[in-house]
Amino acid sequence: MRYQSTRGGAANLSFTEAVMTGLAPDGGLLVPADIPDVSAKLDAWSSLHYCGVANAVMSLFIDDIAPDALTDLIARSYASFDHPEVTPVFTSGELHVLELFHGPTLAFKDVALQFLGNTFDYLLKAQGAHLNILGATSGDTGSAAIAGVRGRDNVDIFVMFPDGRTSPLQERQMTTVPDANVHALAIEGSFDDCQSILKAIFRELDFKAEYSLGAVNSVNWARVLAQVVYYFVGYFRVGHDGPIDVCVPTGNFGNIFAAYVARRMGLPLRRLVLATNANDILARFFRSGRYSRGDVHLSLSPSMDIQVSSNFERYLFYNLGCDPGKVRSVMETFEATGDAQLNFNTRVYDEAFAAGTADDAATLGAIGRTWAEHQYLLDPHTAVGVAVAEDYRAQAGDNVPMLCVATAHPAKFPDCIADVLPGVPATHPTLQALESMPTRKTVLPADVDAVKSVIRDARR
Ligand SMILES: *Cc1c(COP(=O)(O)O)cnc(C)c1O
Repeated sequence: MRYQSTRGGAANLSFTEAVMTGLAPDGGLLVPADIPDVSAKLDAWSSLHYCGVANAVMSLFIDDIAPDALTDLIARSYASFDHPEVTPVFTSGELHVLELFHGPTLAFKDVALQFLGNTFDYLLKAQGAHLNILGATSGDTGSAAIAGVRGRDNVDIFVMFPDGRTSPLQERQMTTVPDANVHALAIEGSFDDCQSILKAIFRELDFKAEYSLGAVNSVNWARVLAQVVYYFVGYFRVGHDGPIDVCVPTGNFGNIFAAYVARRMGLPLRRLVLATNANDILARFFRSGRYSRGDVHLSLSPSMDIQVSSNFERYLFYNLGCDPGKVRSVMETFEATGDAQLNFNTRVYDEAFAAGTADDAATLGAIGRTWAEHQYLLDPHTAVGVAVAEDYRAQAGDNVPMLCVATAHPAKFPDCIADVLPGVPATHPTLQALESMPTRKTVLPADVDAVKSVIRDARR
């Protein structure tokens, strides 16, 4: 399989090149040259274990890693999950929940980052190279990136976070990791300061080249690919003979884009129901065809407090007939004005999608109702999805099963759960164990040179 940029400036890249490049040089995202139709294989795949499905799906898109090596990468990536099915489906009555939170940090990003971390390490070893990953987190995503590469020989990771401004739990998830290649940098400043430092360092091309700096951002194609797998697994476990709907709590559009790829591969997903919190740029788009930036609102589901969704451009590429010229023109308009109108006259922008929004009150309502009806605890991100899914099913008025995607374990958000359901414990042994573990962090002023010197000193 070859890869090309959504904006036309790069083409004919191998999978390895696509993974190591991340963002295309023309500012576009990398997409496969075509998406194979696998409808004829679904029966045969339906009884496979998670890793078998992963092999079947991923090997269609990866032809430059030997089959045995790919099988081994997949097996090692998902051995770190605490459930034998990796992403099991919980069912109670009409509620079906695809649990993506059984990885080491209890959030769905582990599914992609465990695979990406192993793949980076494998490719770097083959090239005899070393990579320094630099990232900034407001709390939640840093730990999944750390867990993906901890203990790896050919990668060091530096994660900046605003000192004292993440939750104590989030900080412990980053600072209790003992591996020497992990550097938790507590910056005396805000998350914006961390991001400014990140951008400033990535702009220094000499430093970037000398220290082989890279990122694990959500636009890496390997992350999307790893996420396509669980839509197949989820569909098989629901066990319905015919199409189902899926509902995905959405921020950067990575997770639901993976569902879109699975649908284009022939998986019978009728509707992809996109759920947002008050940050509703995408929900508005799928109702109106107008892509227009708003202000960022803080919500109970912080990992979805995003206005501009980096993976959306990949969807546009397919939606605009794989025409890089059209993608470029829409993205240039949007980047310049914060507003792009794609379609004036239709009520539904794309038959594949439905969209809805749940504010904080609706989120809490879904947590309370789901506990009362099913004795099942939702984290606030998953609850946004469940609230939107309930609205959607009430409107659709049919019996097509709905698979709701669970993106985090509720124990990661104990305060929110305690607000709605006082007395119901939201705990997890992995998180409890962190409380007694030693922590390690480097406190630094919000200063570019301070961060650069830590990277310099870590050279091995
Ligand atoms: C990242 C994240 C999301 C949003 O996923 P996208 O792929 O960015 O749309 C939702 N829930 C949780 C818990 C997350 O960490």
